[in-house]
Amino acid sequence: MKRRDFITSSVVGAGALALSGCYKEENRATKSSSVQKKVTLKLATSWPAHFPIMGTGVDNFAKRCFELSGGTLEIKVYPKNILVPALQVFDATSASQIDAFHSGVYYWKGKNSAFSIFGGMPLGLTSEEMLTWLKFGGGMELWRELYAKFNLYPLVGGSTGPQMGGWFKKHINSLADLKGLKMRIPGLGGEVLKRLGVNPILLPAGEIYTALERGTIDATEWVGPALDRMMGFDKAANYYYTGWHEPGSILEITFNKERWEKLSDEHRAIITAASEEMTGTMVQEFRYKNAKALAEMPSNVEIKNFPKEVIDAAKVALKDVLNDESKKNQDFKRVIESYNKFTKLNKKWDDISTRNFLNLRS
Ligand code: CA
Repeated sequence: MKRRDFITSSVVGAGALALSGCYKEENRATKSSSVQKKVTLKLATSWPAHFPIMGTGVDNFAKRCFELSGGTLEIKVYPKNILVPALQVFDATSASQIDAFHSGVYYWKGKNSAFSIFGGMPLGLTSEEMLTWLKFGGGMELWRELYAKFNLYPLVGGSTGPQMGGWFKKHINSLADLKGLKMRIPGLGGEVLKRLGVNPILLPAGEIYTALERGTIDATEWVGPALDRMMGFDKAANYYYTGWHEPGSILEITFNKERWEKLSDEHRAIITAASEEMTGTMVQEFRYKNAKALAEMPSNVEIKNFPKEVIDAAKVALKDVLNDESKKNQDFKRVIESYNKFTKLNKKWDDISTRNFLNLRS
């Protein structure tokens, strides 16, 4: 009897399992039938073809979407100026001319100054902290809400890790040394330096080296040792200042919102997972390649810190910039409040964990 009971209950148990398995399989079959249809999306970037780290990152993202979808989701990546000019990818995606883009959020502050906060903050959060604010601190919800007005749906598409302060042809020993300095520096960092007397200049990537080498500009920032050396800046200037204005810039993979909503659940899940993978990999790749490029830096290059009075003045100027913008733009005010709330929450924990560890091990 005991054996029989056992068999019966086993059969019932197995039946229940089989049933629940069946139910799940049916569900999966119903949902995934739409996935079988092959989808091809056009994605334009703001980078040259296969540009190291950023460009190769998006190439790999497209490859992963193809692999993970069993070949049903093909994302064709177009480097800058092939389908649309580098800095028109936002408008072209918004107007449904292309399906998606990969770029830097800081480029769109002319659309809405609040967008610059999603791209990162001078003297602010690092890449890991930015990603935490976006995912858990309400940042992403605000970003999606504000981009929806442009018919866009953003995802994080990588992050640079800490950037350097830039290449200078002469020492910066005081605030006075900044007066009238011509520097290529975009975004909020440029806005802050402008208030310290710098003349911030916007130049396309291809023109920066020549401008610095010929002295048309006195200084430039770009990213970090790996990409800066690739641009040849170590041959045009000797003083390489540590960073303050881009502690963790965020890149974006943004979709046309109507197109995004028409994708199957599976394709949206695959794109989301691939973008997360891309972000993690990019942060690690920047860290490794920057460390390596720094170790191999030529001896003419001197690493310098900005004097305290410059950083102190930058802090004051930044506060003014943020206050002015909050008064002008309600969206900016909402986003900066969310950002500040997370920054405050994060600080105590960061002080006794990461900051403490770094101090201990040094
Ligand atoms: Ca930069």
